[in-house]
Formats: sequence, structure tokens, C-alpha cells
Amino acid sequence: MKQIYIEKHDLQNTEDLKEKLENLLHSPFQSVDDVEMWLKDVSDFYDEIRESLDGHYIDFQARNHDENAKKAFEHDQEKIGPLLKTYMAKFDEKLMNSSYKDQLDQGKYGRLLLSKENAIRLFREENVGLEVEEDRLSTRYFELTGGLTAEWNGEEKTIPELFPYLENPNREVRKSAFDKLFTALTSVENELQDIMNEMMKIRKKKAANSDLENYRDYMFMKYERFDYTPEDCKRLAESIRQHVLPVAKKIDEQKRAELGVDTLRPYDQKAVPEGRIPLKPFSTRDELVERTSNALGQMDARFKELIDVMNERGMLDLETRKNKSPGGFCTSLPVSELSFIFMNASHTHSDLLTLFHEMGHCIHNDLKRNLPLSYDRETPMESSELASMTMELLSMDQWDHFYTMEEQKQAKLDLLRGIVSFLPSGIRVDQFQHWMYENPDHTPEERMEKFSELTKELSTGVVDWSGYEDARMKEWLFILHIFEVPFYYVEYVIAQLGALQMYKQYKEDPVGTLARYKEALSLGNTKSLYEVYEKAGIRFDFSGEMIKELMDFLQSEITKLEMVENC
Ligand SMILES: [Zn+2]
Repeated sequence: MKQIYIEKHDLQNTEDLKEKLENLLHSPFQSVDDVEMWLKDVSDFYDEIRESLDGHYIDFQARNHDENAKKAFEHDQEKIGPLLKTYMAKFDEKLMNSSYKDQLDQGKYGRLLLSKENAIRLFREENVGLEVEEDRLSTRYFELTGGLTAEWNGEEKTIPELFPYLENPNREVRKSAFDKLFTALTSVENELQDIMNEMMKIRKKKAANSDLENYRDYMFMKYERFDYTPEDCKRLAESIRQHVLPVAKKIDEQKRAELGVDTLRPYDQKAVPEGRIPLKPFSTRDELVERTSNALGQMDARFKELIDVMNERGMLDLETRKNKSPGGFCTSLPVSELSFIFMNASHTHSDLLTLFHEMGHCIHNDLKRNLPLSYDRETPMESSELASMTMELLSMDQWDHFYTMEEQKQAKLDLLRGIVSFLPSGIRVDQFQHWMYENPDHTPEERMEKFSELTKELSTGVVDWSGYEDARMKEWLFILHIFEVPFYYVEYVIAQLGALQMYKQYKEDPVGTLARYKEALSLGNTKSLYEVYEKAGIRFDFSGEMIKELMDFLQSEITKLEMVENC
């Protein structure tokens, strides 16, 4: 396989890396200019190492069974990651202890200095070793879940390959797919529970080492979530319950009517009614790329150029296969000045959304490309996800590249209804994690009970789970974020509310909205979330009033679409 990333350093040679890091550490400051130059040197070096680390991560995710890829990735996790963390902490100390730091331009470096202060408060040498263990457990999670397969009509299928059957109009087919998915998951359940038990212990220790009450508080500091609190997340859950669930309930009831079933069952949730063929936006990988490229070209010439270059350079690993990790992500490769997209397409409508979503991240990376310091390019997830989720919604106008008029109507309804259904389900995953780390000594049974309880509280009550209580308790084992990137979920909810505001203004002013989208994303991390959202022409606001306003808007958009005559 061709290597798609640039390696400026040999990560196997840890002595050489250490020497380079030592040189940076002992680089003398004789003026504020020296500090500025040093910041740029550190950032460049960090970018170079980052690209290699991310490259190795991609290799491993793409080929779980490749021993060399695994070895390189594990070496990074066990040797390079810790080395880098330790030196980054030393660099933070060096900067913050320098008398020249007060002469740095506040407008340019103010946010960076605050971030370094926070990092120093949080950093403990003991946690570096714990994080190596934590990473090892994450790797194990991916090996276990990525290796799962099920037998389907005499053929061995990966988990993502089974997903399309959940949409099948034939109820027996989707029930069988649903059962097979959960049987596969259950085959590794005990190991996954053990991984989580170990992670809980490690995370509790990390928080205690940093003198924090719990790991939730630790992660809020780590993610620099200074614009909202855990209490705000609870209130958000409450507002969603109040303003979103009634709309979601209508959608579920309509689904039941459309399917012509007496009760909606867990395996009906993605189903397509009899007589309607599931949406199939493309038949081959190349078709997906070509159509997406044309669609992006209608929005902005640079967007198209970007996906074309990424495709030529082998930076789109789109299709599912065995021994490939589940999920999708986009990684920025700062030295190559390009991004890489990883996903598991199985030729469904959701693949189309995933690609536009990930392209939103790529476009964001591209717009931030010229910011000189890596710190300024590392955006918080509330703005990263605004980029990607907005792209999903704005892409709707271009779906004629994939669908007939009738299919477009269906696909758009699916997306808008899906957003309504996602909000309660997303905040449930967030609240589950709050509970987990507020009660770190819970048992696996209590954990499953809690997840089931939250699912009940944050659902419309239309789906009948009887006989599937077990699946409802265990669904979270499929959610890799809970394992790999804890607390990374509320951002999807918050950013979705931002994306809906973007879509709302796009309906009135497409050209102006796209211009503001690009302008806001170009800010990267140089401004606060409030300022980034403001530049985009929207508000960083997840109050009950905002949610209600957006639900009214969504409801009217859905009604308008439903009234479009079928042709
Ligand atoms: Zn994303």
C-alpha cells in the first residue's frame, strides 16, 4: 500500500527525537522575538510528529490485522505519545516561566497563554503512564469490534455490511440483521465490559492525580470547555426532553403508519416501507467520489478541487472491509496540507451523509491551513462539528447528483427527521457518561441499567422493546466514543443546533451564508466559540428558547417536504 503521509522523522529512533526535543527545550530566550520564533519552531516540529502519528493511526485503523501497522502504532502509543506529552508539558512551563511572555501580543497569543496555563494545572507526570494503558485498552476495543463478522446467506459479512439490511422493507430480513448484529456484539460483550471497567479505574485515578473530584471535571478542563458547565448539559437534556421529544414522537408515529405495523419494534427504526426501494445513492466507490465532487463544485470551486486532489493522492479510504475499524473520521495532515478520510461505506444513504460530513471537516482544515501555529488550527469540537454538520445540511440542495426528485424528497425527509431523532439519543449518550464518572464505582449491571433507564427517559415511547431489553441495555457498547474519546458527544448535539441555524439562514441567503461559513471556519481557534458562531451569522446558544425555535423551523420544513407532490 502506498504511504499517503509525509514522515520527516524516524519515530523508531527515540534517541534522535529526544535530542531534538531537548534542543527546543534549551533554546535560549533573549527577547520576545525569540519566544515568538520558538513557538513557531515547536509548532512546526509538533506538526511533523503529528503527521507521522496520525499516519500510523490511519494504517492501523485501515488494517487491524497488519502486524507492522500494529507494531508502529503501538510503538507510538507506548513510546512517542508519552515522550511528546512530557516535553509539551516542559515547553508549557518554559513559556509560562519566561519573563518575556508578558510582552507577547495579547490579541495574537492571549488564548494560547490561557490554554497553556490550563494545561499546566491539569498535567501530572503520573498520568502519562496511565494514558498509555488507556490507549492500549482503546486499541483492544477496536480490534474486538473491528474483527466482528456474521454469517449472512452463507457469506461472512462485516458489521457495517449488515447495516443496509436494517433498512430492508421485509420485516423478517431486518429482524434477522438486527439479531445477528447483537449476537455478534454479545460474543465480545464480556471483554468490552472488562475494558470499560479498566478504563473507569484509570480515569478515576487520573482525575485524582490532577486533584479533581471526578473524571468528568477532568475532561471538561482537558477539552477547555469554559463556555458551558455540566449543569448546562443537564439543562440541555431537559430542554430536549421538553421541546424535541414531542416532534420526535410524531415522527415515530408516522413511521409506524408508513410501515403499516401495529407496533414499532427496535428492528423497524431504519426500515423503508414495502414498495419503496431503499435509497442507493451510488453503486461503486468511484461513483460516490465523482458525484460528491460534482455536488461540492456547485457550492464552491475549492471544495471540489479539494476532494479531487484527495482522491488522486489516495486520501479517501471509503469502503468497508474485514479487519478495518468501524466508524468514520477525518484527519488533518499538516505537513502534507491535506486531510485523510476514513469511513465504512456500504452503499447506503448514510454513506453519502458521512462523506459530506467528513468533507466539512476537510474544508475546515483547508480553511485553517494558513494559520501558522498548530494551536490556532486545533479547533474545539463545537466548531469542528459545526463545519461538518452544516455541510450535511447544505449538501441537500445538490442531491440531484445522486437521486431522482422523488428520492430527493425522501432523502431530505430522512435527514431532517433523523436530526430530530438524533438530539434525544445524542444527549442520552452524554448524560450516560456524566452518570458513569459521577459514580465511578458502579458495577457493569448498574451501568447497563442506567443506559436502559436513560433510553426510556429520552425516547418517545413509541418503540416497543419487549423481548429486546438486553439489546437496549447494551447498545452503548457499539458507541466507540464512550471508549476512545469520552465526553465527545454533547458537541454533536450543540453543533447540530448551530448547523440548523446555518441551514435556516442558507434557505434565505445561500451565497451570503456560504461566505460566512468560510469566514467563520477560517478563524480556527483564534477566537472564542461565541465569536466563531457570530462570524457564521448564528448564536452559540442552546437555551430552551433556541431549541424550541429550531424545532418549529424543522417541523415546518418537514411539513413542506411532505406536501411536495410525488412524481
Ligand atoms: Zn465529525
